[in-house]
Amino acid sequence: MVVVMEMTSSVQQIEAVNTMLDRLGFQTQLIRGVKRIVIGAVGDRPVSDLQDLQLMPGVEKIVPIMKPYKLVSRECKGDNTTIQVGAVTVGGADLTIIAGPCAVESRPQLLTSAHQVRQAGAQIIRGGAFKPRTSPYSFQGLEEEGLKILKEASQTTGLPVVTEVIDEASLQMALDYVDMVQVGARNMQNFRLLKAVGQTDKPVLLKRGMSATVEEWLMAAEYIMSEGNSRVILCERGIRTFETATRNTLDLSAVPLVKRLSHLPILVDPSHGTGDRGLVLPMSMAAIAAGADGLILEMHPEPAKALSDGPQSLTPPELEQLMQQLSLIAAAVGRNLAGTSIPHEVA
Ligand code: PEP
Ligand code: MN
Repeated sequence: MVVVMEMTSSVQQIEAVNTMLDRLGFQTQLIRGVKRIVIGAVGDRPVSDLQDLQLMPGVEKIVPIMKPYKLVSRECKGDNTTIQVGAVTVGGADLTIIAGPCAVESRPQLLTSAHQVRQAGAQIIRGGAFKPRTSPYSFQGLEEEGLKILKEASQTTGLPVVTEVIDEASLQMALDYVDMVQVGARNMQNFRLLKAVGQTDKPVLLKRGMSATVEEWLMAAEYIMSEGNSRVILCERGIRTFETATRNTLDLSAVPLVKRLSHLPILVDPSHGTGDRGLVLPMSMAAIAAGADGLILEMHPEPAKALSDGPQSLTPPELEQLMQQLSLIAAAVGRNLAGTSIPHEVA
């Protein structure tokens, strides 16, 4: 349920309600929206037990949430959530473009990529230091050395960085080096990992599992939020279907659906969503037209030499082109694409 507080309620009144909820065995989270102050309360006491609560000063009303996910739901928070990743705001009017190679392969490869990402006008750098590969014989990532390179790339470009974590040990290691952690498709229902990232205050990019329903995905986000970390960004990255012509089937209908069901920001990953660099531009445009808050894109200085996901990685000029084309769609749907005006010599 959510306890909707009057906009004029005082800090003391909010605290008193929180204490009462605590005593009744609820897990609570204060959510300050633009139009409402609500306390999200998760527990299993029936609303009929809560008459005293209803009468407390500052309480406007108590609204039960019927969905299995609570803190994540639009019913809990009506206005869109924005999440700060370094100096970048995700989920507002400005679109967020994350770009970089699938994996951190070497210092020169990542630093070159990072400058190219900045040059193109993207706002956040990506690069995997821990790679959950299908084959144990494929490149598994540079691990801590990769994290150090990502941090250096962030410092030299001024852009925040995101990297995937695959277990609690990699999470603990990554916390010191990166601005956001990614929980990948293969770990979307790794509930221990979800709880562990929920106990940090790092922004989390939560990818949709390759066979996860939207509800299962939102429940995974609820795991993170229920541990106290409300900085969750969802990412649609394609699901497995009978179609084999593309690597995955990019479910763009999930974008407006998630916007209806949840207040959290949502990005789209057309690189893993299609597996084909030639499809990345059209699906990027479609994603923004469908209401996504941004994109995460794979780009490699030399895709033919990439240690992973070369066929779906854009070249640097293709990323620049994409940013230019995207600005037209952004304008059409009332979003800003910041950064596309960075002159070449500054980057
Ligand atoms: C990635 O972003 O490199 C990745 C492995 O993504 P996903 O978890 O969506 O497959
Ligand atoms: Mn990849």
